[in-house]
Amino acid sequence: QLGMPPTPTTPPRRASRQLMVGRVPVGGDAPVSVQSMTTTVTADVNATLQQIAELTAAGCQIVRVAVPSQDDADALPALAAKSPVPLIADIHFQPKYVFAAIDAGCAAVRVNPGNIKAFDDRVREIADAAAAARVPVRIGVNAGSLDKRLLAKHGRATPAALVESALWECSLFEEHGFRDLKISVKHHDPMTMITAYRMLARACDYPLHLGVTEAGPAFQGTIKSAVAFGVLLAEGIGDTIRVSLSAPPVEEVRVGEQILQSLGLRPRHLEIVSCPSCGRAQVDVYRLTDQVTAALEGFPHPLRVAVMGCVVNGPGEAREADLGVAAGNGKGQIFVRGEVIRTVPESKIVETLVEEAVRLAGESTEA
Ligand code: SF4
Repeated sequence: QLGMPPTPTTPPRRASRQLMVGRVPVGGDAPVSVQSMTTTVTADVNATLQQIAELTAAGCQIVRVAVPSQDDADALPALAAKSPVPLIADIHFQPKYVFAAIDAGCAAVRVNPGNIKAFDDRVREIADAAAAARVPVRIGVNAGSLDKRLLAKHGRATPAALVESALWECSLFEEHGFRDLKISVKHHDPMTMITAYRMLARACDYPLHLGVTEAGPAFQGTIKSAVAFGVLLAEGIGDTIRVSLSAPPVEEVRVGEQILQSLGLRPRHLEIVSCPSCGRAQVDVYRLTDQVTAALEGFPHPLRVAVMGCVVNGPGEAREADLGVAAGNGKGQIFVRGEVIRTVPESKIVETLVEEAVRLAGESTEA
C-alpha cells in the first residue's frame, strides 16, 4: 500500500466520554478533530461564510466564531444554517448570547466562566437550554482570564489553578445534571499547558480540546503547538485540537492536520522525505524539493516521495519511500522502493516522478 509508514504506531487514547458537535463526534474513540476560528466580523455573514468555506476546504472539521455583540448574535442563525461544518459560538461576558447561540442552531457553545460575571447564577438556565437543544458546552479556561478567586489562591495561572478552575466550572453544570462538556485549559507556555492537561486528563473523563493560547506568529506558534500537542497526543491525551497562530486561520488548519498526520492519527497524504543537502549534493535540493512538492500537492493517494541530493546513499537511505530521486551529474536516478528503475536528465526529474506516482497509484488501486 502506498504511503504506509514502516512501523505504524497509534498511541492508545485516554478513555473519555464522547459527545457530538453537530455531526462530528468528539472524545471516546472518535478521530481527533481539527478546528479553527474565523477572523472576520461574525456579523458580516458573507465574509464569514467565505472564510468558513476556505477553512473547510483546508480540512477544518469544526469552526468557531466569536460573538462579542448583538449584531454577531443576530448573524448566528444564517451562519449555522449555511455553514458546511458544525459551528461553535464563542462567548465571553454575556450569558444572553449563549441562549441566542443555542436558539440559532449552533452545534456547541464555548464559554469562559472566568469572564462571565455572576456566571454561577445563570448556570441552571444555560444547562437546561443546552440539554434541551442537545448542545454541548466547552469550558474554555484561559491563563489570561482565570477566575479572580483562583488567581488570588494560586498567585498566578499555574497548571493547578487552570485545572481547579475548569473542574469547578464543570461541577456547576454537573449540579444540574449536565455533563455534555468538553474542556480546555490553555496557556501560552507549552510546558505549563502540557502539565495542566496531564492533570486534567487524570482528574476527569471529559473530552479535551487542546490549545496553546496566543502561541505567536506562524513559525513560533507552529513549533509551540507541535511540541505541546505532540507530547499530549502521543500520551493519548486530546480529542480535538486548535492551533492558534497570528496568521490566517487556514494556516492553523494546515498545521493541525500535519501534526495529526505526523503522529499517525490521520492518514498521511503526501509525505516528502527530502535530504538536508550537504557538500556531496549534486543538485539544488531545496529547489528540487519545492518543485516535487508543488507538482504532487493534492495527489489523491497517500504517497511518500524521497528527494535525495546525491547517489551515494540516496536510494538506500530512502528505501521506505514509495518512490524517489537521487540526483547526480545532471541526471536523476528514479527509484521505486529502493530499486533504481531508470535514469533521466535533471530537467525530466519532476515529470518522471509524477508519472511514476500515477502508475504506482494505479497498481495500488488494482491490488
Ligand atoms: Fe548529502 Fe547525498 Fe545525504 Fe543529501 S543524500 S544529505 S546530498 S549525502
